[in-house]
Amino acid sequence: MRVSVLEISAQLENVTNLTISSQYEYHIKFKCNNCDTETENFMTFSDDSKVPLMGGKSFVNLIFKCKVCSRPSNVSIIDGSLRSYLAEDSTNFKPLIEFDCRGCDPILFQPINRFQCTNMDNTTEFNDVDLSELNWADYDERTNESVGIYDFKYRFTTIKKSTK
Ligand SMILES: [Zn+2]
Repeated sequence: MRVSVLEISAQLENVTNLTISSQYEYHIKFKCNNCDTETENFMTFSDDSKVPLMGGKSFVNLIFKCKVCSRPSNVSIIDGSLRSYLAEDSTNFKPLIEFDCRGCDPILFQPINRFQCTNMDNTTEFNDVDLSELNWADYDERTNESVGIYDFKYRFTTIKKSTK
């Protein structure tokens, strides 16, 4: 099975465990594998929204049809693939989440929904990390340190996984 991986990179200042919640709402643009047309808008979906596939026996997180060739695509968030970006990962690309994309490929990601992270010794949680401008700065009152995430980047890669 071919899996699409959303990888992120950022420079972390006095924080670690950068990740998203299981209710995160993704904003992603896809490209149709049949005719290369990009979706007009960012598609939104989350692990909370389950859509039955035709026949209703299995569920995915997003179904859409290509506006040009009408071919249907579907996307599933892969269970257990969510990871955290750590302080030692700083400025290297690391996988955040994996998607099973059928009929399409993800091409653009907008970090509109909030991320979360913790300070280095896990005593302060930051749950409202706004990376929509690709930088975030705050102050940790417990440790009296400035904290921040800078130069947020993402990319999509694909990996091959053996089917279960
Ligand atoms: Zn198409």
